[in-house]
Parts: sequence; structure tokens; C-alpha cells
Amino acid sequence: MDSKPATDARSPAYRDDRNHVFHSWSAQGALDPVVVAGARGSRFWDESGRSWLDFSSQLVNVNVGHQHPRLIEAIKAQAETLCTLAPYHANAATSEAARLIAEVAPGDLNKVFFTNGGAEAVENAVRIARHHTGRHKVLAMYRSYHGATAGAIALTGDPRRWGAEPAMPGVVHFWGPYPYRSSFHAQDAQQECERALAHLADTLMVEGAHTVAAIALESVVGGNGILVPPDGYLQGVRELCDRHGIVLIADEVMSGFGRCGEWFAIDRWRVTPDLITFAKGVNCGYVPLGGVIISERIAESFRQRVFPGGLTYSGHPLACAAAVACINLYREEGLIERARWLGDAVIGPALRELQQRHPSIGEVRGLGAFWALELVRDRDSREPLVPFNASGAANAPMAEFAAACKRLGLWPFVNFNRTHIVPPLTIGEDELREGLAMLDEALSVADRYCV
Ligand code: PLP
Repeated sequence: MDSKPATDARSPAYRDDRNHVFHSWSAQGALDPVVVAGARGSRFWDESGRSWLDFSSQLVNVNVGHQHPRLIEAIKAQAETLCTLAPYHANAATSEAARLIAEVAPGDLNKVFFTNGGAEAVENAVRIARHHTGRHKVLAMYRSYHGATAGAIALTGDPRRWGAEPAMPGVVHFWGPYPYRSSFHAQDAQQECERALAHLADTLMVEGAHTVAAIALESVVGGNGILVPPDGYLQGVRELCDRHGIVLIADEVMSGFGRCGEWFAIDRWRVTPDLITFAKGVNCGYVPLGGVIISERIAESFRQRVFPGGLTYSGHPLACAAAVACINLYREEGLIERARWLGDAVIGPALRELQQRHPSIGEVRGLGAFWALELVRDRDSREPLVPFNASGAANAPMAEFAAACKRLGLWPFVNFNRTHIVPPLTIGEDELREGLAMLDEALSVADRYCV
């Protein structure tokens, strides 16, 4: 990057950013960030007042939209009372947040270890599973994302791991179900389910199931493509874990807290994992928060034995007060049911209708407020619109599609050859249809690359 200070006169915020902020996952010199001046509901705007409809919910976290007054009130009230506290004390906000999370969690998942975000939740879930079982190996999926810290990135099954390798030892990757691009040459979803389970059973056999502490998976794979597992898959993984005494970790950092039209995506299949990792939607990221929900059986193994882990800000009162307000809001405003309705009544049908008219849409998939369009050059061969992990010129079709969305006033979530439709659960139906109309227009840019 040019080491000269930026003199761009756009605004002090832009200048200071370019001179001093080191951004995630980026070549720093290539960045030209929008300076966001404000946000409300499903929209945010820049310093000139130009606004975008947020179809990405930022990083799929603002489930209740931006600047929800009830969350702001709760944070203000907590700030007046008690901003911060060492985690060895108890306090009203943290206790209530833990109780509410346990109330909405499935089965006997009843104890909460709080972290500052998703990656730390995954780190601690792995540590809990290893100490509980006395085993060290962890199985995780290809095409997954679990966070960017040392252990969580080792579990991650996408190119974001490459830059952190050699990663934490003891992690083995396996293929999960993905009917549209089956690793198992399956003809339909049921065959995909059976073959993916057989592959997992074989992986356990050759790895030595007795050496495996945990299988960690996203109940519905998020960042890697909104891959909804076929019915029966998660039940099958549960059975394999039970047979071999393996801890099942459901990573619900993105899919949890209403995103999939359930409190946790895994609820849809009535499967109870042993540990759930959460973050994002628990309080929509108004103050950073994540954690692990722990079954009574696993918590019991730490009743006498010390759990070897901790964080200065575990159970942060401001973050937990926001979680209390957020969970109450989900309940009182029926937002979990609303997400299901958005998917069934509006987003799913609208995207399928777009598929009729846009040859670039290879597949439409999703549920709740969690949808993907997989874009292709050719529907018959399913050749992706851009190659796997493309950058620069090779990624031009997706970059042009994203630029078209932004020009029209829509902020898209774009990854590889997909766009994800993941708006706030609170988005108004009119706004949603307005966004879908912009998407419709932008897709004509992608269509130009079709054979
Ligand atoms: N797990 C999943 C499924 C995620 O989608 C993410 C982030 O997107 C993480 C873990 C990591 O969360 P964080 O970025 O809060 O560390």
C-alpha cells in the first residue's frame, strides 16, 4: 500500500480510515469503504445521504434491523447501572440473558458460557468437548466457516483457512450434503443424504471413532452457500455421535436466533445437539456477544473439575442487556414466525419467479430469511458464473453484479458465484419487494455472461 497519508478530502472519517484502520480479509490498498453515517431499520446511509437497503443484515447479524429503539434503551439503561464487570461476579443482565437463552435452547441445553463473538464460541466448544471426552480429534465440514481464531479457522472448510495453515492439529474435514453439486454423484436429496452419512461413517471408521471428541457443523451452512441439509441428515449425524460417544456441536452463529424461522436452525429437524455455538442474532451485534450453550450432561463433567478457559469480558453486562432486550423482542413481536413467513410467502416464491426469467440463476435455495441464488454461466452444465475463489478479472461478472446492486440502492451479500438474500427479519413487505425488484434488475448484468 502507498505509505503516504491519504489526503482525500471526502471526509475526516474516510481519511482517518485509509490512514489508520487495518481492515479484515483485505489487501489494504484496494479498499474504498463507504463511510456510514447512520442507519435505521433495514437501511443505512453515507455522509452524503445516499442510502442502501440492507439485504445482507451487515454480516447476517442485524436480525432486528439497525438502531432498534428497544435495544438502544436497554443498552443505555445498563450503561447507567453497570457497564462492565469481571466474569467471576454475578449480575442481573448476564444471569437473565443466560436464563432466556437456556429457555429457547432445545433439550437439556441449559448452561451458557459467554464469549465476545462466534470464533471464541467455537474455540471454547472444542475445548469443552475435548475435556469432556478426553479425546482430541474434531471433524468439521468442507464448505464451512467457523471463525478466524486459531482453532476456529482450523475447523473452517473454505479458502479463508489457507492463510492460517498449518492450522491447529487434530481437525479432519469431511464432505457434507450439497445436492446441487453432489460430491457423491447423487441423483436426488434422499440419495445425497444416505451417501453423505455413509461417507461420514467411513471417515469415522478410518480416523478411529474413539479418537474423535466432536463433530462440528453449521446446522444450515451459511457463508458457504445456504446449504440446507436434506431431511434425515442431521438425525443421522446425531445417531453416529451417539453410537461413538462423540459430542455434536451445532454452530448456529449465523443460522440461529430466528434467521431460519426457528430459534435454532437445528430445531427444524427436532435434533438436540450437545453444544450450540451462537453470536450475531443473540443481540444483533449491538454490543459484541457470543457463547456456547452446554447440555446438563456435559456441564456435569465440570462440576468438580475446573473448566480451563475464560475471557475478561465473558458475560459482558452491556452485551447481555442487549441480548435480554433482543430475545424479548423476538418473542413479543413474533419475529421467529415472521422469518418463516418471509421465506414461505415472499422471498422463496419471488426468487423462484426470478429464476424463470434469469438464465444466470442456477439454483434457488433457503428457508426463513436465509436464501441464496447460485449463479451460473450455463444451467445445463452448472458451470459457476465465476470459478471457485475467483479474484481480479476472473471475478468480474460477480463484481459487476454487486456494483449494479449498489448503484440501484441495494446492499447485497456476495460470495463466490452466489448472492445471499439475508435481510433483517423486521423488513417491511414493501421494502422487501422493492429490494427484490432491484435484484431483478441487477441480475440482467449476470445474464450477459450466460452461454
Ligand atoms: N461460525 C459461523 C457459522 C459464522 O458464520 C461465523 C461468522 O460469520 C463465525 C462462526 C465467526 O463469528 P465471529 O466473526 O463473530 O468470530
